[in-house]
Amino acid sequence: MHAHATWRCLFVLVLLVGPGCGASPGSEEPAVPVVAVAAVDTVPVPVAEPVVVPVVPRRVWGADLPQGAFRTHTISAITVHHTAVASRADTDGRARARAHTRGHLERGWPDLAYHLLIDGSGVVRQGRPTTAIGDTGTDYDPTGHLLVTLEGNFEDHPPTEAQLESTARVLAWGSATYGVPVSEIDGHKDHASTACPGESLYRLLASGALGRRVQEVLDAGGARRSLQDCVVGVDVGHSAERAGATSARGVPEHAFNRRFAQELVAALEAEPVDGAFLLDPDDVGLPLKDRAPLAAAREATVFLSIHHDSVQPRYLQSWEVDGAQRPYSDAFRGHSLFISDGGADPEGSERLGRALGGALIEAGRQPTAHHAEAIEGEGRPWVDAALGLYRYDGLAVLRTSSLPAVLVEVGVIVHRDEEASLATAAGRAPMLQALVAGVSAYCVSAAGPSGSPAP
Ligand SMILES: [Zn+2]
Ligand SMILES: [Zn+2]
Repeated sequence: MHAHATWRCLFVLVLLVGPGCGASPGSEEPAVPVVAVAAVDTVPVPVAEPVVVPVVPRRVWGADLPQGAFRTHTISAITVHHTAVASRADTDGRARARAHTRGHLERGWPDLAYHLLIDGSGVVRQGRPTTAIGDTGTDYDPTGHLLVTLEGNFEDHPPTEAQLESTARVLAWGSATYGVPVSEIDGHKDHASTACPGESLYRLLASGALGRRVQEVLDAGGARRSLQDCVVGVDVGHSAERAGATSARGVPEHAFNRRFAQELVAALEAEPVDGAFLLDPDDVGLPLKDRAPLAAAREATVFLSIHHDSVQPRYLQSWEVDGAQRPYSDAFRGHSLFISDGGADPEGSERLGRALGGALIEAGRQPTAHHAEAIEGEGRPWVDAALGLYRYDGLAVLRTSSLPAVLVEVGVIVHRDEEASLATAAGRAPMLQALVAGVSAYCVSAAGPSGSPAP
């Protein structure tokens, strides 16, 4: 059950096109056909661990949101660019990336033109999705090109060593991922009339010096992009209009879900995950079936749907709150976790569910067992009762997920004490911390040499 290998690769893609280098007429080159790397059926050789290429997700570096539609393509070529703005190792790469993005949006492009941007200190930043065609101010068609852009003006100064090291890794990753031979990695000026990527960088490309560095990375085990290893898309269960359960004191579940989800995103972002985001920050109320696909489209690698729990009507009693009679039940309290077999990654979902459940138990939390009761409306099969982990294949929000996905019932809000506790920051904190720990544990385990089965 731990063998699943590919979850972190589901949504990898980021990079794209570059515009910034001078504009000019130029030749239009057909895209290089994808080169299939055929597996050779010989004795398996132990493969060295790939070197990690950390890529700063755009949410982390504060990219503006894309504007307008992307056109999609399949990458079959790699071109190297420079930004044509002088840079040094200590230039603020984040500010520069944001400025480039703004400039490109002002040109009417939907996003930063490039797929990957490598600053002078060697930090690699995520640009537009790799699935999207880049943009250019020059006369060539970037369709099919992975646009790898180095910060700097290499007509005036050379790239830094840190930048070249990162570039070699990025190009190794790109070459292996898209089947582009190292010898066919081009500079922009190979395709258009432009000085890009600048004299000193172009010389490294044309002489094969950079290619040799790329090949060294490949020979040593290749490169693995860590960009989207752990980006958490957090769904606020239900919607303002259809708010789910009602607490013992008459508060809609959606309000509990929203507050908790916001706090969870903030807590996750403070942790060493690559990113976390709220799926529907403006609370428009997305259709359930669209939620996980949207998380995936936004390059999440983990999907969590946050809920607060109720019980079957037979358990409800009545009490008076502010002069009104309200249903409540003190029969059950504690968390529940649900996974679905319907999603595209049931193994990943189970591993995620176990990691979350394990962290909750570790933190001294107690699961509730009432969803397993053999009564009308319940009867959910256990995946692991000790963890509070159930299977519930009918959940629309999980069924449509291509990502590892878990629905979290944080607690039972028809329970009067549990509701009161979850209404306070102190009451929520242990749950938040445990969920962050669980996600982190899952991501760390998934980010290892996953997928490399024992020889
Ligand atoms: Zn260029
Ligand atoms: Zn709910």
